[in-house]
Amino acid sequence: YRALALDTALSTLAAVLVYVVVKVSVDGIRHWRARVSVLIVGSGPVGLTAALVAVRSGKVLKLTVLDERYRSSLLCRPQQIALDPRSVRFLLGLGVDFDNMEGCWHNEHFFTRIGVFQEYLLSILEQRKHKVDVKVQLGTKFSEEYVRRLPSTDWPQVIVVADGSCGDTCSVLGLSSDYTVESCQAYGANATIERLDQRQVPTPEIRAHSLFFDLSAYGVEALREHKSPSAKPGFHLKIYGTFRNRYMALVCPASDTKMVRFLRHTANASIMKNIFHQSFNVYKTDIEPRLSEVTLHQLQCSRRLFEVQLSHRTVSAAYITGDNVAVVVEGEAARVLSLDTCGVNLGLRGLESLGTFIYGMATAVDQSDVLEALSAKMSHSKQVSQDFKRTGLS
Ligand SMILES: Cc1cc2nc3c(=O)[nH]c(=O)nc-3n(C[C@H](O)[C@H](O)[C@H](O)COP(=O)(O)OP(=O)(O)OC[C@H]3O[C@@H](n4cnc5c(N)ncnc54)[C@H](O)[C@@H]3O)c2cc1C
Repeated sequence: YRALALDTALSTLAAVLVYVVVKVSVDGIRHWRARVSVLIVGSGPVGLTAALVAVRSGKVLKLTVLDERYRSSLLCRPQQIALDPRSVRFLLGLGVDFDNMEGCWHNEHFFTRIGVFQEYLLSILEQRKHKVDVKVQLGTKFSEEYVRRLPSTDWPQVIVVADGSCGDTCSVLGLSSDYTVESCQAYGANATIERLDQRQVPTPEIRAHSLFFDLSAYGVEALREHKSPSAKPGFHLKIYGTFRNRYMALVCPASDTKMVRFLRHTANASIMKNIFHQSFNVYKTDIEPRLSEVTLHQLQCSRRLFEVQLSHRTVSAAYITGDNVAVVVEGEAARVLSLDTCGVNLGLRGLESLGTFIYGMATAVDQSDVLEALSAKMSHSKQVSQDFKRTGLS
């Protein structure tokens, strides 16, 4: 009886072992072979980086990248982008070689023009064509017409919407256009200076902190205020962009000091202009020209301080059951700041979870796996906004 029991136990164990080994191997092979087709709408810096993430995930069979703009207008934007150390590490992990990109380093940040960055990413995608079926369709708008014309066999399983702050892809797909607007507990203002006679080469940013302005000429005796130990810290100034297209951002923590109150409500637009004018001349690099009374018209700026707010899409990921497609929203289409400031790499932060999401979608067996992948993506997206609100501006 004992020998029979032992035999039964051993054969049950062997059967279980065989089942586990077969299951693990079959699952392993299925996971290894699993591939999805991905459509990316928008070839801005975020859409093209998303394309690189998709190609590097090893789980994409076919990748289509669209942009309504043609190549020349896509790559001609004058803005400079600043990549912070975390974004640099992320891009290095995707195979970006900064030695082969026009730009400059300063304090572990990399500065380049937005068009140079996009062009570099387009060239990498071109090189990866032998590994993945990559199609870049510039001059093609994602619209109801595009959806109607797409043969059902060409429907992707994943759509990444990276169509910027003005795109309407989400509404074409039927996603809610609700945004949650949250205060960053800061006030800010922006300025731009365009000087066509200056050079357009990547230039490091300049930062200055704890600034106070003498507004006594306007009847604000604020200087006395900041000498008290309980007073809030002053303004932070950033000058960025190329010498031809200079941008400035002025930010201070939300407070109710006399100076802040005055700058929040003044109807006199020349006050902000004076502040930016004087600040630029004090903190600019030695080799660029000063702004004089004659060239002051080249400076455009906010009329007064405004509250810095982060708007983020309430629904940043969705599953369209009829079409069996998962949609994720990235970059400025997902979250946008009311202040233009250099080096805020919110879009790239969001992409840090895209590779895992594509893997999850490719290996999903049923809808609960799909929903799990979507819910992880949505919580990461929320986390990006929360982290930014806590520490982003500082
Ligand atoms: C003055 C200024 C200075 C800035 N400076 C910096 C900086 O220093 N550092 C920094 O990191 N960022 C900077 N930015 C922000 C930067 O430009 C944006 O963060 C970045 O461009 C957002 O990238 P994106 O890919 O999400 O969107 P976008 O760059 O806006 O790209 C969206 C793309 O989608 C395309 N598109 C839209 N709708 C459709 C459709 N239906 N079908 C197909 N294609 C479509 C558009 O043509 C566009 O090319 C600055 C912005 C401004 C305005």
